Amino acid sequence: MRKPILAGNWKMFKTVTQAQSFVEHLQELNEVPAEVEAVICAPFTSLLALHLALKDSPIRLAAQNVHQAEEGAFTGEVSALMLKDVGCSYVIIGHSERRQYFGETDESVNQKVQAALAHGLLPIICVGEDLDQRNQGITKQLVESQVRAALAGVKPDDVSRLVIAYEPIWAIGTGQTATAQDANEVCAHIRQVVGDLCGAEQAKRVRIQYGGSVKPENIEELMAQPDIDGALVGGASLNPGSFASLLRGA
Ligand code: 13P
Repeated sequence: MRKPILAGNWKMFKTVTQAQSFVEHLQELNEVPAEVEAVICAPFTSLLALHLALKDSPIRLAAQNVHQAEEGAFTGEVSALMLKDVGCSYVIIGHSERRQYFGETDESVNQKVQAALAHGLLPIICVGEDLDQRNQGITKQLVESQVRAALAGVKPDDVSRLVIAYEPIWAIGTGQTATAQDANEVCAHIRQVVGDLCGAEQAKRVRIQYGGSVKPENIEELMAQPDIDGALVGGASLNPGSFASLLRGA
């Protein structure tokens, strides 16, 4: 049985004070169901404060990017060891915004996945097509090649522990969600690809999220799909009340 994983990707939002106040409000709501794994993906600057604030909480912490090198002269970058050191359990790798604005490629995504795993950080690997690719009818091919590239050389046991997030680019921040059926179809295809690469057991265990305009109103329908094991949520995760509703819906 796969445990649903609901991750809030805060992107470049919230100061340390705002992050702390989010956790205080969320804790007042007392609404983190035991059946769901809740994750907050925060900017680097808030990670340590969140780690301390979440000390007695089941909520896990994630970063939104990591550098592939162990350490070195890479001004402005942060390593997997450093993220582990401030209490991260997960790290988002290859978000479409990083691919689009910061030149991330399938190759750098693969290197980052390996670096994260080497330090016991679990990657949340993002894949997804843009509108043009969707209109050309190449969604599955495109997503398949992103998944294969990201997982190249990764041990099957590690693959079964990580998370893959299917985020169609046209659905991110647009209010336009993929239909639950369409999203499920692509997630099922991703699972098939994982099966191909690593075997049926691993494919059964790997968790696949959907992301792109997920909100309290549509989470239940998405989660009811057999191959969708959670959601990666941007905008609707920024408010503690809405995050709590998403957790209930997951
Ligand atoms: P929205 O939920 O704001 O569409 O963002 C999705 C996303 O990019 C999460 O990583």
